Amino acid sequence: MNPSPYANYIAGQWLEGPSQRANINPSDTRDLIGHYSQADAAQVELALASAAAAAPAWGLSTPQQRADALDTIGQELLARKDALGELLAREEGKTRVEGIGEVARAAAIFKFFAQEALRQRGDKLASVRPGVEVEVTREPLGVVGLITPWNFPAAIPAWKIAPALAFGNAVLFKPAELVPGTAWALSEIISRAGLPAGVFQLLMGPGAVVGQAMLDDARVQGLSFTGSVGTGARVAQAAVQRGAKFQLEMGGKNPWVVLDDADLDLAVNCAVQSAFFSTGQRCTAASRLIVHKAVYAQFVEKMAEATRALRVGHALAPDTQIGPVIDEQQLNQDLRYIAMARAEGARPVCGGELLKRDTPGHFLSPALFADCDNAMQHCREEIFGPVASVIPADNYEHALDLANDTPFGLSSGICTRSLKHASHFKRHAQAGMVMVNLPTAGVDYHVPFGGRKASSQGAREQGSYAAEFFSSVKTSYLLP
Ligand code: ADP
Repeated sequence: MNPSPYANYIAGQWLEGPSQRANINPSDTRDLIGHYSQADAAQVELALASAAAAAPAWGLSTPQQRADALDTIGQELLARKDALGELLAREEGKTRVEGIGEVARAAAIFKFFAQEALRQRGDKLASVRPGVEVEVTREPLGVVGLITPWNFPAAIPAWKIAPALAFGNAVLFKPAELVPGTAWALSEIISRAGLPAGVFQLLMGPGAVVGQAMLDDARVQGLSFTGSVGTGARVAQAAVQRGAKFQLEMGGKNPWVVLDDADLDLAVNCAVQSAFFSTGQRCTAASRLIVHKAVYAQFVEKMAEATRALRVGHALAPDTQIGPVIDEQQLNQDLRYIAMARAEGARPVCGGELLKRDTPGHFLSPALFADCDNAMQHCREEIFGPVASVIPADNYEHALDLANDTPFGLSSGICTRSLKHASHFKRHAQAGMVMVNLPTAGVDYHVPFGGRKASSQGAREQGSYAAEFFSSVKTSYLLP
């Protein structure tokens, strides 16, 4: 079967939508990547009916059948990682190296969950009642709606789709509007992996239409969402109202603590990577650099030097380290926060300026602010751009307090040579993920990912913990 270019994949067929959306390269806004179909309410209904019809049989499919499909998808992603990574970089704006790395990671995730499909365990216990047997088993939820953001167009869809299928659910995949290219390419690969019609469906379209329909429909038993805090609240509200299971990954305002005994080169290197790589557009990005006063001046100086040296440019240019901001709306948000930081009295050290390059794109130099106060508004809200604020701390205890003084709790990092402080920080950081002498961003794919407080709700994603969300526990009693 030859799919129509960039149509949605519904009920085992490629269906063009009533309208289309242009996919524009943020490194060169003259570069049109393609037009992508936008589903309407009628197409969403078709997909919902197809998913509901396919779910029961798929839920009873053999683990081998699921493992084979997931492994096939992983293999093809790996084989085509260079071309797909380039497409990802072209539409999202992270560098080619980052794009290829992300596709390789998506491949690894599918291969991991191929094996997880074979490792589904239950428990058999002796009952407290004579002769009775008790069994604890896991079953799929049924139909799950997966709603993803634009900043990881391959990895986040992979870490939702792969476990959803591995544990026997029928998937409705709703990618972010800004990155349909990678979503379509991934879906095209999945469409050839031998899954029955309706088990996997791609629904590109506006969040307010396609996403909202998934939130509101009783046939969708589970909602896994990654995106903004505002939309996450809508997902939670809709799910609670109709009794669906939900899982949310939202923002971060992640701290990077630098103690007076830190290796300062390592501290700066991790800070630059955490704050500015992928243009700061990662929920695990460090945006608050909390630095012990004894090394504060030295850190700011080294950080400024490293930040100024970063090469910002076209995502596909070989020497680029920092690509463009994803679109004009995000760029305006970044600029608004940069102006706010200045107005709040933060000291602008470098960056925060629009850059002209050979191609028209949304280029912004990474912005570093010093002498910030953790109470400043720009230190409390997620910016989601290449903007970092240095905050002085009196000692370790003060640094820890500042690190935890945030509505968010996704990732939290510290740079120190002290085992005592590292160990204390691991225990007391109020975050789902803690990094010692490592960047706040950049995680393994086989262990849980997620946060606390306003960052996350529901069961963790990734690794064997993914079973918690994508399956439902059943306890059976039997008297033989
Ligand atoms: P971002 O700032 O990353 O764009 P959003 O929360 O707006 O964050 O978007 C994340 C995902 O949520 C996207 O796929 C988007 O289309 C989707 N979305 C937006 N609004 C809704 C909604 N009302 N219902 C369901 N999904 C939505």
